[in-house]
Amino acid sequence: MYQRILFSVVASSVLVLVLGILGLNFLARNRFTEATKLSGGDETNPEDKWPGRRRARLLAREKLPAKYQRLKPIHTLMGMPGPSDWLACHEESGQSLRVYKRQSPVRPGKRLTTIYIQPLGKFTEEQAKIVRLSAEYMGIYFNVPVKIKSAFPLKMVPRKARRQRFGHEQILSIWVLDKLLRPCRPKDALAYIAFTGSDLWPGRGWNFVYGQASLRARVGVWSIHRNGDPAESEQMFRLCLLRTIKTATHETGHILTMQHCIAYDCNMNGCNHRLESDTRPLALCPICLAKLCWNINCDPAPRFEKLIAFCEKNKLKKEAGFFKKSLQLIQKTQPVEKADR
Ligand SMILES: [Zn+2]
Ligand SMILES: [Zn+2]
Repeated sequence: MYQRILFSVVASSVLVLVLGILGLNFLARNRFTEATKLSGGDETNPEDKWPGRRRARLLAREKLPAKYQRLKPIHTLMGMPGPSDWLACHEESGQSLRVYKRQSPVRPGKRLTTIYIQPLGKFTEEQAKIVRLSAEYMGIYFNVPVKIKSAFPLKMVPRKARRQRFGHEQILSIWVLDKLLRPCRPKDALAYIAFTGSDLWPGRGWNFVYGQASLRARVGVWSIHRNGDPAESEQMFRLCLLRTIKTATHETGHILTMQHCIAYDCNMNGCNHRLESDTRPLALCPICLAKLCWNINCDPAPRFEKLIAFCEKNKLKKEAGFFKKSLQLIQKTQPVEKADR
């Protein structure tokens, strides 16, 4: 996952999200984006690495509805970024609940009712299970029906949208968004998301992306190619599932007009590399949770109950534990210790 909202200068000027680029070429990045900017602080002064710190603390103090306000003690304020972390390299201004509500975000309703998952190409048995579980998790997370469509064969992707790199084939993500998904998007799609086992790249000068989305068109494509081999062990299956559901919910959150979070450790944080994304939580911070629950018109307590059941069933123990603490605070049934995350 998980990068800031990028203003694409290609592909019909749609907003795109580009994920976890490693070894990228910044000249190429600037061709794709208008909003990306490197921070240029004094290396000897850590404060300069994150000029947005004051703004982040201000956002964290936003007064939320009581049930969300009660969650704040178990969430960790965003810390100073490491030299290669997202916030050391990108200026972010964050997004308060108040501003989010005023932005007329994309939301489910009479017209947009369903999230569609579009498998693209072949999956191993374990990868197919990851896709099914991700669809189940997204249904709970966004409180809307999620339907998995019949798979598109990879042969639908033309030669001009493929290349060989790193010893395997890659698929051009922009082509998938514009030429494959947009023309086929169901009318009632809140989001139409392709999952593929193939590696992706977004265009010239880029090595790869984990995924990419067009916000205006409400379409996205994510690859599970780099999430680890779920057939390797039970532990790797859980890690692959966790990485996939983190990405799927983060990017679909963007489709619902949620911007990157800079206030707390949160599923909506921008991430620059795998280590950073692996250390970010699956859970939303209280501000982003308040945005989502307001948008999808959802009571957070039963939502937490379902998230706990999913995480327990799939042995995501740490995540289940955090959701349990959150549920206790929301219901205010018993005192809860401060989280050690
Ligand atoms: Zn993002
Ligand atoms: Zn957040």
